[in-house]
Amino acid sequence: MTEILNKFKKIKKRYSEIMKEELKLFDENAEDRIIELQNNIISAKSRYSCAMCGSCCRLAATPNSPDDLKKLAESGDKFAQEFTKYFKLYEDFDTIKSLYPDYFDTVDLVNEKLYFYHCDLVTENNLCPKYEERPQICKDFPENPIDILPVACSFKKWQDDVLDDILRLRAITEILNLEKEVE
Ligand code: SF4
Ligand code: SF4
Repeated sequence: MTEILNKFKKIKKRYSEIMKEELKLFDENAEDRIIELQNNIISAKSRYSCAMCGSCCRLAATPNSPDDLKKLAESGDKFAQEFTKYFKLYEDFDTIKSLYPDYFDTVDLVNEKLYFYHCDLVTENNLCPKYEERPQICKDFPENPIDILPVACSFKKWQDDVLDDILRLRAITEILNLEKEVE
C-alpha cells in the first residue's frame, strides 16, 4: 500500500474522532475558533524554513491537465495564471521517475490521474535566478498543509504539526455549513 493511502486511512479515522469532539463543543464561538485555528496553522509554518532542495521547482503534481490550467487561467484564476507562465509539462514519465523515485511511493498513480510539471529556471544549485521577482505561488509554497509534498521538503514536519488543527477547521466548517442548510 502506498504511503498516501496509509496516510488517508489515518486521517479519515482521526477526522471522525475530531468531528465527534467538535459536535459536542459546537457553540456560537465557532467562527472565532476558525480564525484561531487558521492563525495557528500559519504561525506554525514560520517555525520551519525552506531547505532549498529545489524539488518543488522540478516536480509539481496536479490533477489539472495543461488544458484545464489554461481554462482556469483564462477564467481569472491567479494560481493557474502564474503556474502556466512558469511550469511546463513533463512529456517523459521515465525522466520524472528517475529524478524522484521516492516520490512515486507516496502517490497512488493507479487511482489518481496526475500531471507532472517543472520550471526550467531552477539552477543546478537549486537556486531561482528570478528569486526577488519569483511568482507568488513560489513565495507561498507550500500553502496548503494537506498537499502531498516532495519527499525532501522541510515543511513535511509542519504538515504533521498542524494536521489536527486542519481537521478541526474542516469539521467546524462542515458543521457550520450543515447548520446554515437547516436554518
Ligand atoms: S520561478 Fe524560481 S522559485 Fe519558482 S519554480 Fe521557477 S525556479 Fe523555482
Ligand atoms: S520542496 Fe520544500 S524544502 Fe524543497 S525547495 Fe521546495 S519548499 Fe523548499
